[in-house]
Amino acid sequence: MIGRFKYDNETFYGEVKGNRVIVDRGLYNDTFLLIDLQLLPPVQPSKLICVGLNYKDHARELGMEIPDEPIFFLKPPSAVISPLGKIVYPEMSKHVDYEGELAVIIGKRCKNISRDDAGSVIMGYTCFNDVTARDIQKKDVQWTRSKSFDTFAPLGPYIADPMLDVSNLAIRTSVNGELRQDSSTSNLIFNIPYLIEFISSIMTLERGDIISTGTPAGVGELSVGDEVEVEIENVGLLKNTVVAKN
Ligand code: MG
Repeated sequence: MIGRFKYDNETFYGEVKGNRVIVDRGLYNDTFLLIDLQLLPPVQPSKLICVGLNYKDHARELGMEIPDEPIFFLKPPSAVISPLGKIVYPEMSKHVDYEGELAVIIGKRCKNISRDDAGSVIMGYTCFNDVTARDIQKKDVQWTRSKSFDTFAPLGPYIADPMLDVSNLAIRTSVNGELRQDSSTSNLIFNIPYLIEFISSIMTLERGDIISTGTPAGVGELSVGDEVEVEIENVGLLKNTVVAKN
């Protein structure tokens, strides 16, 4: 697992091994204790492309048709918080939901990538919480406001290996230790190579951009004080608390 860290005003990537972080300095390695470093979001994306309605179990739960093309929206980079950051419950909303999701991190600037070449532009995988003000989403015609509040994009904690087989990983979300979402990435309607082909046929993807693959069944509400965890097998555990104010 690769993490992004800050120490003494220096930002760097390091390999996380147990409670230690190994930083490659070229001719030598530095070793830090994980606890001594500030953990940053694994990347600073120029954009986050989030796929809606991409799990068969979630579509069934909502009584909606399986879409024949991916439906997606953008979340602004200003919504990203660090893996240990706090989700701020907006005053404007009375109903905020978690959405546990598997995110793909793009490794290089690219356009028009075929599904067969998709692996060559993947930096790795991480956990994502597509926090959503559901009442606002229902009220507005489009989704931007409901998805874009500051802190509504917890990302991390680390970058899992791009060679990881993500076709059948357990994905779970719990709130205060209680299991709420329990599915597998095998339920994805549009898989990651297809999403990269489809999205990169529309827009240029930059290094560090995020494609989040959608959420499974079991979406539900968050309250101030809650601790929400998104855990994906062999990818990581993303844990954030909900607060009333920053
Ligand atoms: Mg979502």
